[in-house]
Formats: sequence, C-alpha cells, structure tokens
Amino acid sequence: MIPTAEQFDLVVIGGGPGGYCAALYGASAGLKVAMIEKDALGGTCLNRGCIPAKAFLETASVYRHVASAAEFGIEAGSPSVNFAKTQERKQAIVSGLVNGIAAMCKGRKVDVFNGTGSLGPDHTVTVSMKDGSTTELSGDAVMLASGSVPRLIPNFERGGPIMTSDEVLDLDVVPDRVVVIGGGAIGCEFASTFSDLGAKVTILEGLPKILPGLDDDVANVVVRSFKKRKIGISTGVMVTGHTPNDSGGTTVHFGDDEHLDTDAVIVSVGRRPFADELGLEGTGVKVDDRGFVEVDEYCRTGEDGVYAVGDLIDTPQLAHVGYAEAILVIKHILGEGPMPVMYDKVPWAIYCHPEVAFAGLAEQQARDAGHDVVAASHPFKFNSRAQIVGEPDGLCKIIAEKNADGTAGKILGVHMVGPWATEQLSGGYLAVNWEATVAEVAEFIQPHPSLTELFGETVLTLTGRNFNG
Ligand code: FAD
Repeated sequence: MIPTAEQFDLVVIGGGPGGYCAALYGASAGLKVAMIEKDALGGTCLNRGCIPAKAFLETASVYRHVASAAEFGIEAGSPSVNFAKTQERKQAIVSGLVNGIAAMCKGRKVDVFNGTGSLGPDHTVTVSMKDGSTTELSGDAVMLASGSVPRLIPNFERGGPIMTSDEVLDLDVVPDRVVVIGGGAIGCEFASTFSDLGAKVTILEGLPKILPGLDDDVANVVVRSFKKRKIGISTGVMVTGHTPNDSGGTTVHFGDDEHLDTDAVIVSVGRRPFADELGLEGTGVKVDDRGFVEVDEYCRTGEDGVYAVGDLIDTPQLAHVGYAEAILVIKHILGEGPMPVMYDKVPWAIYCHPEVAFAGLAEQQARDAGHDVVAASHPFKFNSRAQIVGEPDGLCKIIAEKNADGTAGKILGVHMVGPWATEQLSGGYLAVNWEATVAEVAEFIQPHPSLTELFGETVLTLTGRNFNG
C-alpha cells in the first residue's frame, strides 16, 4: 500500500450504471466509497444510451399519437418535427438525471474523482485528474466498471454521415434517409424512431433475421409492423464499404454489388468492452481475447478483492444487469452470502414500436434445452384496453414445462410485444424468476380493463380453460 494513498472501503472505476449503483448502494450500507469517472456521471446509459435513445423514441410516439389524433375525435392537423427541440428536451432530461446522481453521491458522502483511474498492484488506483494532477487511492476492495464503447466495422470510420449511437444521439435534424447497419435491439430502436419521424429507413443485417434471440412469434410482429411502416429490411447481407457524395451523404455498398444512397448511416453492430485505460499491469486481473474482464459468478476477477461488473464483463449488456451485479458485489464484500445473478432469466426490453419485453426461454430455446413444453399466445387485438389506446398489434406468449399428465407446469418464459410491453413485464418476470407454475399464477387477478389482462388470460389458457381466448 502506498502510504500517501487515500484509503477507502471501496474504490470504483467508472461512473455508469454498474459503478454508480455500487457507489450509492455501498454507501447506503455504510461503506466509505470513492468513485472515479473520466467523463460524465451516468455513463453510457444516461449520456449516450438508454435514456437519450428512449427520449427520442418518446418524441416518435408523440408524433404518432398526434398524427392519429383524428381517430380519437381530436383535430390537431398534421404534425411536423422540430428535432432541435427534441434534442434540447433530451439533453434537459439527461442533465437533470446526471445532476441527480451527483447530488446523491454528495448526500451519501461518496467521493467522486473526475479523472481516469488505472489499477496497479495491491489495490492502488492512480487517478489522472481532468485538471492535470494525479492522485493515489487505495481500496480494501476495487470495482472495475469502465463499461463499453460502440464496435466499429472496417470501411465505416466515424465522421460525416457515418455515425454510431454516440453521434446519432447528438443529431438535431432528422435525416431524410437513414441506413441502419445491424438489426439488433439498438439498431431497431433507431430504425423505429427515425421512420416514425419521417425518414426513409433501411436496416441491413448480416444474419438471416433481425432481432435474433427473440421468440419467432414476437420478432415476426415487429417485422410486420416495420414493413407496414415501409422500413426496408435486408437480411443475410454484409456491408462492404461506402462512397461519400458531395451533398454530405453517401452510398452504402452491400451484398452482391448492391448499393443504397443515404444521408446518414447508423453503425449498430454491438459494443466492445472498454478496458483500454484500466492499467491492470502487475495485477491478477485477466482480460479475454474479446476484451472482457474475466470474472466468476460473484464478479470476482483473478485479483483478490478486485471485482468487475457491467458491460466490461461478458454478461448481458444491460444497465439493470450492471445494477444487479453491483448489488451482488456489495453484498459479497459485506459477507452477506448473495445469490449469483441468474443471467438466463433477466428481463429484456426493446423500446421500438411495437415494444418488446421478455424474461426466460423462448419456445425454440426451451425445446433446444430439452424441455417438453406447452405454449400459449394471445393477441392484443382482443384486449379491450389495447383497443381503447388504439394499439391492437402484438401478443403475449407464455412457455411452460409440460407435466407428466400433459398439463402446464413451471413457467419457463414470458414474451410480449405490443403497447407498453416494457412496462408490463414485471408479472411475467416474477413468474419466471420465482419458478412459479401456471396453476399458481392463474390464481392472481389482473385489473380490468388493462393491458396486463392479456398476461392473465394467456396463463389461464395454459390451465386448459379461459374465457376471453
Ligand atoms: P457504462 O455505462 O459504459 O459506464 C462506464 C463509465 O466508465 C463511463 O462513464 C466511462 O466514461 C467511464 N470510464 C471508462 N474507463 C474509465 C477509467 N479508466 N477511469 C474512469 N472512468 C472510466 N441498457 C438497458 O438496460 N436498457 C436500454 O434501454 C438500453 N438502451 C441502450 C441504448 C443505446 C443507444 C446504448 C448504446 C446502450 C443501451 N443500453 C441499454 C446499454 C446500457 O447503456 C449499458 O448496458 C450500460 O450503460 C452499462 O453500464 P456500465 O456501468 O457497465 O458502463
């Protein structure tokens, strides 16, 4: 230990969801915590991810509502987009939340260091402060939470029309034409946003289908909705490069000599872990060949007392998974014997229109895992609240283990697509994680009229009876 180093119970490197959750939760449990952030508190999620992307999606949703207001008897005329205002609103939301984290850190006496932290031997962390100075910290425990950055692909360097999510979220105009490279969750959210706001959007995806990993029935609803809204989807195609034009746009080359003229390209091909500035020399922390810090089920690295969480490790790249890992680590530090995170049962939410949310196994995944399954699915079009809100597209699908007598037993997966699906998952999430049976969940009442009645109805169907199906 360096004698001059300031001593903490926990030193956290990175102030994103993983890092700030650990700092605030740890401080609330009585730990003396330091948190180092080189950029803005809140990390990717608050500044360049979840929050700004969802703020844009909300603007798209307002646009859709105004555009269809006449159906509800409201004559509002044709909406037009002032995206600079959208950008301003998004930034106000982001700034408010970032300031909120800073205030909570202050309130809980978390020492926040604005600089870049690197880990050396014996739990010492050197901080190269933004003001040019250097400071040394030492922690009984150290948490690495330096997150991730967008992955790039050859021949698509950032600049001009070529953007990653970082640059897209700074736009203050809606491009007329957008090519999204990558049809995963983030790519589909951007495609949905810009299409709803009037852009001509095309998704280019290398795999055979967009949104891989989703239950087929759910993914098909999104694909149908995208196609209805004239979003172009080309799957099984690889992009090869692009040729910029004089008007600020470019021509994207893909597949067998195909091309598309566009004003903006959103490269959305995943995120890579960002261990680049963590130092780690002289420590037992190991980084795998894809750049992830290696950890065990308690997020312990190869160096005793050093943990890693969030996008830096090879677990689902979701803010709430980072939170769960951070809480797990704090409980582990406190010797409370926490249960490892069950990564196969975490909630997933995709906020495109229509929204997607799920927990647990999709039908094919359940079969591939060797389960004998029964599944039921109900469409939102027969749900009264979905009719009332004017969003009848979508479904709820539940996959359960088949008992020896043929009845439906333990709930293995709940998959939803449709209105406010992301807000409706909690019942399904609880069912999957509580390892509840169909018979148990069927005892619970859903309010009427509500969108969640569809979940109740689907469970009821799995009991062999129903009344609305
Ligand atoms: P990050 O949020 O990346 O934070 C890491 C922080 O560490 C950064 O602030 C960085 O500046 C700092 N840092 C790095 N190195 C150092 C260093 N050496 N010293 C000091 N500081 C350092 N997830 C969801 O759950 N729901 C969503 O709806 C969702 N939407 C998304 C939309 C987009 C467009 C994107 C890009 C991501 C989205 N995500 C979403 C993913 C989510 O943002 C990440 O999973 C989450 O931010 C990971 O948290 P983290 O703390 O591990 O890392």
